[in-house]
Amino acid sequence: MSDIRHLIRTSDFSTQEIITLFHNALHYKQLLMSKTPTHQPLKHKNVITIFFENSTRTLSSFELAVKNLGGDILRLDVSRSSTSKGETISDTAANLNAMNPDAIIIRHRNAGAGYYLSAHVNCPIINGGDGAHSHPTQALLDLLTIIEHFGLEELQTLKNADTIAPFAPLDSIKGKKIAIVGDVVNSRVANSNIELLTRFGMEVILVAPPHFLPQTSLRTSDNLKAIAQEVDVIMSLRTQTERHDQVIYGSLKDYASRFCVTKEIVGNNPCIILHPGPVHRNIDIDDEVLKDSRSKVLEQVTNGVCVRMAALDFLIA
Ligand code: ASP
Repeated sequence: MSDIRHLIRTSDFSTQEIITLFHNALHYKQLLMSKTPTHQPLKHKNVITIFFENSTRTLSSFELAVKNLGGDILRLDVSRSSTSKGETISDTAANLNAMNPDAIIIRHRNAGAGYYLSAHVNCPIINGGDGAHSHPTQALLDLLTIIEHFGLEELQTLKNADTIAPFAPLDSIKGKKIAIVGDVVNSRVANSNIELLTRFGMEVILVAPPHFLPQTSLRTSDNLKAIAQEVDVIMSLRTQTERHDQVIYGSLKDYASRFCVTKEIVGNNPCIILHPGPVHRNIDIDDEVLKDSRSKVLEQVTNGVCVRMAALDFLIA
């Protein structure tokens, strides 16, 4: 069996590996914040990014992460690549592999694209989002943002621990409640977070109108106002209109009237508010809440670069 590691789903990393990854990510964060140059573990390493779906944050975050570690990026322009001329993805993969890259980061509209690619190449594949299936680095950066707020000290005490519990390793996170709000059924971000956050012992509550809920054994609700008072974290999601074959709701305005995270909804709850971006302002979260100190949306973006640096370092270097 090949010993090449990939990051397709959050379950590809053990809990112990994730704790180590977070320590490294926070180390990188400190260096970046103080503008101290990092060591260059990706020097002379070539990383290909190939994104078949639009992206602002994830693509630039990965590319910056590679550069921060001294690596080189080759961004394949999909609109000009041969897949748009009818080449199959396995042929594209074979050709990319023949260039001997040190890793390939892929985003694709089809669930499973990363797995498929991983069977055809000799380097780590990192999934930058595949359909509604999985977005592992997003969930990792979300969890790091939650831990930074509720459990940073405890995380630090685990630095030299020999063994880490595979389930709920941090008491400060265990039992914390998170409401994941919005188009859960079409969200790869929700999927990856459900696996990861429940593994860390959090209680996940899915809050959405019925047509946005998957079949699930998790607690669900369509009453954001009530749930918002009892949770520690609210994660709002964008309505994934590009994944709807038909319009199954009245309008985004109707949706917003019940599911937009507003000051009134949040009240005085000292929770934190997350969103993977891009935010539909005043539909997912209103302007006022985005400015509130409880909103960690930009902190998530900062943490994204650091988590991706740690993941690249782990998988390649
Ligand atoms: N940026 C996230 C993703 O790629 C969330 C979103 O697009 O709504 O899944």
